[in-house]
Amino acid sequence: MTQRPPIPNPPYTGSCLCGALRWRLEERPLAVNACHCIDCKKLTGATNLLMLIAKRDAFEAEGAGDVFRKEADSGREIDIVRCADCGTRLWHEPLASPALVFIAAGTLDDPSWVIPTSHIWIERASPGVVMQDDAIKIEGQPSDRQALMDAFTKVYGA
Ligand SMILES: [Zn+2]
Ligand SMILES: [Zn+2]
Repeated sequence: MTQRPPIPNPPYTGSCLCGALRWRLEERPLAVNACHCIDCKKLTGATNLLMLIAKRDAFEAEGAGDVFRKEADSGREIDIVRCADCGTRLWHEPLASPALVFIAAGTLDDPSWVIPTSHIWIERASPGVVMQDDAIKIEGQPSDRQALMDAFTKVYGA
């Protein structure tokens, strides 16, 4: 079984590389998801994007962000928010789901507890990627994000 430290209590905080753009999340994430799509590889410069899916009304940011609107592989549009100074990409806002925000887990001040409970677009996963035995694995984009939230709850409890 995957060894998982407990999810710490909120709030969670994070920032870009230069520190000019900071964010704060006041509630537990709804899901911890790794996306292996081509956009996320380009976006991160890494093998995948590890993200916290969270309620947008529990999220706030401080500092200047640049917004880049992108149509995702799924056809959905997202606003990608980056630091206006250093260019670090911190979170994205899905236009079709205004109640949610997807925060790049690598921007957390303490990312030590973040282990995915779901993987999506697994058919595009880079060959070196490890997927946890207790995480769900989905080809392509799930039609309903509830599956990702259910996977998180199954592993960590409500
Ligand atoms: Zn910055
Ligand atoms: Zn993706």
